[in-house]
Amino acid sequence: MSYRAMPLECYCGEVPEQILEVGFTSDHHLVIHYWCSACHRVIFMTRTLDECRDFCPLPDEEASVAAAEDARFLQSLGIRSAE
Ligand SMILES: [Zn+2]
Repeated sequence: MSYRAMPLECYCGEVPEQILEVGFTSDHHLVIHYWCSACHRVIFMTRTLDECRDFCPLPDEEASVAAAEDARFLQSLGIRSAE
């Protein structure tokens, strides 16, 4: 199984270094609460479950991502894959 990181960005364009909290709302939204150390703002980002599903990698993509991760791991050990 692979995953795709959810893109997080502050209004100022910086990527947050730290997520403070992840939660759910009573109307079925995912909430990510983070702090931007660049502009000192607290950010609450919400996503619907459909939006979360749209972020999920496709099964084909999952296989190719896994193969790329395997190749990187082997390369880190000094082993080159035969491609
Ligand atoms: Zn910011």
